[in-house]
Amino acid sequence: MSAITSEVKQVNANVLRHFVKISSKEKLAHAYLFIGPDSIGKSQTAVEIVKLINCENNADGSKEEACRACPSCLKIASGNHPDIFMINKGDTSSIKIGAIREMLQRMQLRPFEARLKAVIIKNIEDLTVEGSNALLKTLEEPTRGSLLILTTAVPEVCLSTVRSRCHPVYFFAMPRRELLETLEKKLLIDKEEAHFLSLYTEGCLGKAVQLHEEGFFQQKNVIIDNIIFNRNNEGYIKSLVMDKVQVKVVLEVLLSWFRDALLMKLGTKSEYLAHSDRPQDLHQVEVKYDFDDIRGIIQEIVNTKRLLNENLNIKIPLQLLREKIWVG
Ligand SMILES: [Zn+2]
Repeated sequence: MSAITSEVKQVNANVLRHFVKISSKEKLAHAYLFIGPDSIGKSQTAVEIVKLINCENNADGSKEEACRACPSCLKIASGNHPDIFMINKGDTSSIKIGAIREMLQRMQLRPFEARLKAVIIKNIEDLTVEGSNALLKTLEEPTRGSLLILTTAVPEVCLSTVRSRCHPVYFFAMPRRELLETLEKKLLIDKEEAHFLSLYTEGCLGKAVQLHEEGFFQQKNVIIDNIIFNRNNEGYIKSLVMDKVQVKVVLEVLLSWFRDALLMKLGTKSEYLAHSDRPQDLHQVEVKYDFDDIRGIIQEIVNTKRLLNENLNIKIPLQLLREKIWVG
């Protein structure tokens, strides 16, 4: 599975083309900030740009894609290139100042083998204030022959002094039709699942690929079966409340399910319903509730999500919600 998906790219072709153009004219700036939603392909695109600029089969800068086979491409892909650094917070809560300091020192050295030394820092909102200030230094005094690509989903929380020293590059979600086609034709995902993913992820290819790999299409149906269509399943709720991440997933699925029910009531065509793989079940929900009921349920799901975010006990709200939305 991942063999198909890792190559079928979450890379943004337009951004890549733009960089091909500016780097061939030697107009590459020192630092860029890639801005866009999570999992939309910002860091994959950054890696692809760095690969392409350093690709041994692209010495004249004429190629539009890296070869993926030369030593430089292979080293970058495996994270073993001595001149290309990728920094993220990993399993910790923030990007440590030590990682930034080390990167700054290494940036001062001449490249060992790369044409262009590069650093990609993923999700700079994870930088500590110290880390951001250290980074500012390199933005103010750039090293020649180096490229810095930073990414973020929440530019508002990044230091404005960091933001203002980078060229912004925006990443937008794909139009739904284009995403659907990519999922079906390039990733060979079944029609029903591709349809669901294209709507559920609101045009975010990276997210769609991730959910596909996790088997989310099957999981969402297990959630719907257990919460909406199976009354005698106390054990499911009990085990669920132990896992905050899973509760969040369940609430998201329920939200999308009841949005669909509301849309169905409004006469929306099934091609716009995420859960169109279960038309009979959606219909059952749609006839059981009137508009106000469904709106009330949606409000209650949103409230439960808020309680969860505030770390409050959600066992009882979740049980009450389930009582309300059970369809037999
Ligand atoms: Zn190459």
